[in-house]
Amino acid sequence: MTLLAVAVLGRGLVDPDQPVVHADDEGFLRGRGVFETVRVYRGRPFRLDDHLARLSQSAERLGLRQPQKAELQDLVAQAVEAAGAGEAMLRVYLTPGREGSGTPLALALVASLPPDLEQMRSRGLRLASVALGVEPGTWPLGGIKSTSYAVNMLALDEARRRGADDAVFLALGGILLEGPTTNVWWRRGRTLFTPALDLGILAGVTRAVVMEAASGLGYEVREGAFPLEELLSAEEAFTSSSVREIMPVVSVDGRPVGDGSPGQAAAAFQRALRQAAAA
Ligand code: PLP
Repeated sequence: MTLLAVAVLGRGLVDPDQPVVHADDEGFLRGRGVFETVRVYRGRPFRLDDHLARLSQSAERLGLRQPQKAELQDLVAQAVEAAGAGEAMLRVYLTPGREGSGTPLALALVASLPPDLEQMRSRGLRLASVALGVEPGTWPLGGIKSTSYAVNMLALDEARRRGADDAVFLALGGILLEGPTTNVWWRRGRTLFTPALDLGILAGVTRAVVMEAASGLGYEVREGAFPLEELLSAEEAFTSSSVREIMPVVSVDGRPVGDGSPGQAAAAFQRALRQAAAA
């Protein structure tokens, strides 16, 4: 991935190769910050309003001062235009800024997409379950897209050590939560299952797109608290997230899901997502 453009609140566009965060920025010192990752299709950030609303909710939960929405929209527009890329990844960051300054730091970054997404989509993901060790709904950062993602990255590292591509978090009792950067879905017949938001998971923007498209594609969605066994015995599974979109899951903890190949619902929802992005 290559960083194509960077815009900083109060400064505008800066050279992507120049540093922009001070050594005493609270986001850096303590991981006190929030962010959003948005997919850009044909030069347009998809569902930007939803992402900025979630950024604002995350900031509120961490007690961060926030710039005006219009300022963030302007920052995003500058970065996206300067990047000049049709297909890209936009990230928006907000931190309290320098220690004691009271002036938030906001950044918009546009980078190229990871190169291996379509290869991953045709092969499918191998997941490994990782215990978070908390009662469902009690993780203090649950549902917040904070820059304190060290636990998420540890889970990803553990999954990779176990020969998988990505992780799925379990609460106590083996209750399925989400991936480190994805929401998780599985299918039995025409019913799709996904963990409920009150378990303390992120309200994914892509998750919402899947919900909206479901009935038109002939699926019913059930949200709830489901144990890992439900996923293991499903007919197929997939993850949803802004950059990777809909990714089929072919195995969990080394056991094939369904027939162990990418499934029909994953393909149908990937097409529906692209249609929504083209609208
Ligand atoms: N869950 C977590 C923990 C995430 O970090 C993400 C996205 O990065 C998601 C779910 C998926 O959210 P979205 O579809 O908005 O990208």
